[in-house]
Amino acid sequence: AKAAGRRTHRFFEQAMDARVRERRQLEIDLRHAIAHGGLEVYYQPCLSLKDDRITGCEALVRWRHPERGMVSPAEFIPIAEDTGLINEIGEWVLTTACREAASWPDDIRLAVNVSPVQFKSGTLVLKIMAALAASNLPASRLELEITEAVLIRDDETTLAILHQLRAIGVRIALDDFGTGYSSLSYLHRFPFDKIKIDRGFVSDIAGPDGSSSIVQAVVNLASARRMTTTAEGVETEEQQRLLRTLGCSEMQGYLFSAAKPADKVVELFALHRSR
Ligand code: C2E
Ligand code: CA
Ligand code: CA
Ligand code: CA
Repeated sequence: AKAAGRRTHRFFEQAMDARVRERRQLEIDLRHAIAHGGLEVYYQPCLSLKDDRITGCEALVRWRHPERGMVSPAEFIPIAEDTGLINEIGEWVLTTACREAASWPDDIRLAVNVSPVQFKSGTLVLKIMAALAASNLPASRLELEITEAVLIRDDETTLAILHQLRAIGVRIALDDFGTGYSSLSYLHRFPFDKIKIDRGFVSDIAGPDGSSSIVQAVVNLASARRMTTTAEGVETEEQQRLLRTLGCSEMQGYLFSAAKPADKVVELFALHRSR
């Protein structure tokens, strides 16, 4: 029994080693991708539920790994956050996306995800001002998406940064709403411009015990505080219809469009306009 225990232990250690090695290799490959143009920015459009206009696009980073093919951001963003590489990736996504969005029709906004780690760097506000200046993108066309994780510590510097960004004229959206902890309290601490309702609520909105009453509550709360709402991950006509009935402002999801490269999303703007 003792020997078997040792074998299990050894097996477990080897599995751990393999995981650690795999992570370390991904980190090395990611550094290489950052330095050698291996990352791309894709854009997913967001549609108004009131008048079917494209109101904006969210920048989503893509990594085409030479051997593994596309690696999901869900896999490499956590590694980038642990290693601090997210600061470089985030800055690159921001400057690239601002430059590309500057040539879009001027009623189409750009949304960029900002990691909690970037808030701790101390240079976030300066980097955003620099990206706006370099691209000539008006601040009012830039929206930053932050998650509750940014607000989780009772942190006055985070709030100060959000207020500075607001003062520049940048919009702030609360991403993945409903997946975190004491969500509602955050809405009192900072006046967001937009709440993005997490895909989890949208996917079971149509069921008999579905989430439509929760979505309704969020929409009501948001509009009482002059915030708009965007439903994430809308995949069916029925979800779209329900969300419109509930008064949700905008939707994003595969039903309308997945994220696309810059040239393809610009084609979509033109097609959609002349529809
Ligand atoms: P997110 O910010 O919640 O982005 C939405 C994710 O949902 C994207 O996944 C998008 O492709 C996916 N999605 C959109 N519509 C649908 C749909 O109808 N159905 C389903 N099932 N999924 C849909 P993606 O691009 O894989 O990104 C995953 C996450 O990685 C993002 O979640 C975000 O948290 C993070 N991420 C991506 N790009 C960046 C970035 O530039 N900076 C930072 N900090 N995080 C990023
Ligand atoms: Ca987002
Ligand atoms: Ca989200
Ligand atoms: Ca998400």
